[in-house]
Amino acid sequence: MSSVPMLARSIVIEPTLAAWREAARPFLESGVEPDLIHFVDTAAASVQPLFVAEALSTSAGVRTGPRPHVPSSFLRRAETVACHRSPGRWNLLYRLLWRLQQNRDLLRVEVDDDVIEFRRLEHQVNRDLHKMHAFIRFRRVAGDFGEEEYVAWHRPDHLILPLAAPFFAERFAVMRWSILTADASMRWNPEMKRVEFGPGVPRERAPEDDELEELWRTYYGSIFNPARTNLRAMRAEMPARYWKNLPELQSMPGLLREAGQRVAGMIESQSALGVMSWIPAEHTLPVLREAIPRCRGCDLHACATQAVFGEGSERVALMLVGEQPGDEEDRRGQPFVGPAGRLLDQLLAEAGIDRGSLYVTNAVKHFKFVQRGKLRLHQSPRLSEMNACRPWLLAELDAVRPALVVCLGATAAKSLLGAKFALMRDRGRLVSSPWAAQVMATLHPSAILRATDPERAEGMRAMLLEDLRQARSIVA
Ligand code: SF4
Repeated sequence: MSSVPMLARSIVIEPTLAAWREAARPFLESGVEPDLIHFVDTAAASVQPLFVAEALSTSAGVRTGPRPHVPSSFLRRAETVACHRSPGRWNLLYRLLWRLQQNRDLLRVEVDDDVIEFRRLEHQVNRDLHKMHAFIRFRRVAGDFGEEEYVAWHRPDHLILPLAAPFFAERFAVMRWSILTADASMRWNPEMKRVEFGPGVPRERAPEDDELEELWRTYYGSIFNPARTNLRAMRAEMPARYWKNLPELQSMPGLLREAGQRVAGMIESQSALGVMSWIPAEHTLPVLREAIPRCRGCDLHACATQAVFGEGSERVALMLVGEQPGDEEDRRGQPFVGPAGRLLDQLLAEAGIDRGSLYVTNAVKHFKFVQRGKLRLHQSPRLSEMNACRPWLLAELDAVRPALVVCLGATAAKSLLGAKFALMRDRGRLVSSPWAAQVMATLHPSAILRATDPERAEGMRAMLLEDLRQARSIVA
């Protein structure tokens, strides 16, 4: 780094591109040469906020001239370079911008020292970003509502969280996640569709191992291709400091030892990774419907005929969520077309709701059953299966955005309202949920069909009808 000229004036800024632009503009407008000013950021200088204010206020006295030309291509690339830790990046950016006023093609001059340095910093930040995209591993923790949160701790070389945010926001749009680094943290709020930035978090305060560690190892074991192992390339791609964050790499020595046998028996299933890898980033009903047959997010796909996706249009006001497809739904590939669906149709008609105006789906998309002779008897999904399938339901919610979700039965209610939700205590009440604006839970029509006491069945039918009528009045 070049030394600071004796007469250079120090300008202390917050370490952001916006702060640098604001500070640099008056100097650039009045043609102050780069050698006469020296940018220092608070991260590098440990400067007190008072000193920052003083330093910036002195810049306010600079005479302003014509508005400088700032090429958009420079600004775009400067956003990347600004994330580098190099303390000299702000002076470099000013020098380049100052020189761009005379030579608008400067960034194309490949032998220019400033341009070479600009590209070097840009390349290093982009590489760091690539590694962050590739090597982050989330750990599952319980949120305030009993919903899942995913938290990852990462050690980037540079200050890249703002650059990385759009990738994770798009890739994991329906999940509640946080990425922590020693410098800063970011948290995705799926309801607000917004990334919030916060302070750094030391490694010791990040969540430790969870059951996903084992899943990642299994996943890595299943996709490990010993025939293509290139240790040198792997080391280049996965610098040693990332290895601690990558549980799958703890399996590496064993995998390499077994490589000979494994060449013959490659495992193609990715089921252990979880459902997130099967859900497309684009949450529209046609895209989700096209993708769900490939889902191997839990074991239920193995015995069922097909995944049964929801039915209805995007942007309807009312969404009904049942438990899982039954025998007939599984064969036909449509939700609520069996005996429970026929009872639901009757009740909807009595409540004055047109089924064509609804979106109807299930909390779990594959049929779970036990075979008894020729019969396939319904089995309730386990909590782990419900959790595995929840991201599909959340993706449907994201596509449909209903004003009201009515959960039919305990499984759907627990999926959206948390494991502690008590159906008979809270049925018919509007409840807030992290996943939808308004949620109500009521009985599943199959519970009425299963009731052996006719009087009890009649009472349950009346309750379901009452709740459907209330739902209609809410969305009317
Ligand atoms: S039940 Fe859900 S998570 Fe499991 S395989 Fe089917 S679609 Fe995927």
